[in-house]
Amino acid sequence: MRLGRIGGVVSAIALAVTMTACGSSTKTVDAEASGSAAAGNAGALIGVTMPTKSSERWIHDGDNVKKQLEALGYKVDLQYAQDDIPTQANQIENQITKGAKLLIIASIDGTAITSQLQQAADAKIPVIAYDRLIRNSENVDYYATFDNAKVGVQQATSLLKGLGVEDGEKGPFNIELFGGSPDDNNATFFWNGAMSVLQPKIDDGTLVVKSGQTDFKTAAILRWDPATAQKRMEDILTKTYTGGTKVDGVLSPYDGLSIGILSALKSSGYGTSGQPYPIVTGQDAELASIKSIIAGEQYSTIFKDTRKLAEQTVKMADAVLKGQQPEVNNTKDYDNGTKVVPSYLLDSVIVDKSNYQEEIVGAGYYTEDQLK
Ligand code: BGC
Repeated sequence: MRLGRIGGVVSAIALAVTMTACGSSTKTVDAEASGSAAAGNAGALIGVTMPTKSSERWIHDGDNVKKQLEALGYKVDLQYAQDDIPTQANQIENQITKGAKLLIIASIDGTAITSQLQQAADAKIPVIAYDRLIRNSENVDYYATFDNAKVGVQQATSLLKGLGVEDGEKGPFNIELFGGSPDDNNATFFWNGAMSVLQPKIDDGTLVVKSGQTDFKTAAILRWDPATAQKRMEDILTKTYTGGTKVDGVLSPYDGLSIGILSALKSSGYGTSGQPYPIVTGQDAELASIKSIIAGEQYSTIFKDTRKLAEQTVKMADAVLKGQQPEVNNTKDYDNGTKVVPSYLLDSVIVDKSNYQEEIVGAGYYTEDQLK
């Protein structure tokens, strides 16, 4: 069992102590063991792997995790893999070879690094899954993320608000649905969360998915690629929205996709006073999308404060390396196919034109100047 690996980091004494992995506060497992682990791991190397630099959020995540770990005296090897799975697998192997004492991984394909995780387990290196769950492996100790199902609910809720359905509008409104990358566990959570809100409105006729493309598989965009989303939106517009029919709303699960979708819409004549953009959602509060929201193009995004995710993950890592039990607040929702991974879930916020100042500028995520 996984505690054996952590025990390798800590000490045999600590292992004798029951760790329930479901407490909601950080507890010292064993003072003596923790002291020796703290001393043994002080200044240890930590391997951090992030998927790509093509989206701003991961750059912030990587920088924040690195900065905060370094402030605690750890050394950090931070790597990005340009969304290439073999590259990420190599980076993890290198970190193990270099003697990393803990790995923090935001995976590209949540199922593709099982053998690297086995190597980590063999070397008694604990693993924290960052933002994205790593699947089909027992060698994942903890998971730090946002409440991903709630993110999906928020995206759909904001779509309904933008369409006026929340204020009693009956439609019918034509909408189209986009999903995230099918190899990213989060994408299914976002989709299921969103559909829990949208499906009843599709069933009662308030919403119509005019293209008929209502299943995740068809709507999913591999590697969250904006160009693929743009192409899919163009195809839908050409095939389905002919003879003056208009699309009123688009469920988009990520700001990068929203930009691609808006660009397809623009080429099709949307975004003028006579033909405004449909309600387009998003996620990540990326700078370009907040600007687009201010300009009245994208309707909303979901703000997930990556500084807080980094903070929580760094606390977890530090606790593990000190032989303590990290704080978790969910021990039921994130079954990775092999085990339920003890998780810490953070909250997210719907942001649109009405509250970006309070939520984004107010939180110091961007300054007013950056948004000009
Ligand atoms: C993250 C999202 C992000 C997406 C694309 C997901 O795993 O949770 O915040 O929009 O990946 O990078």
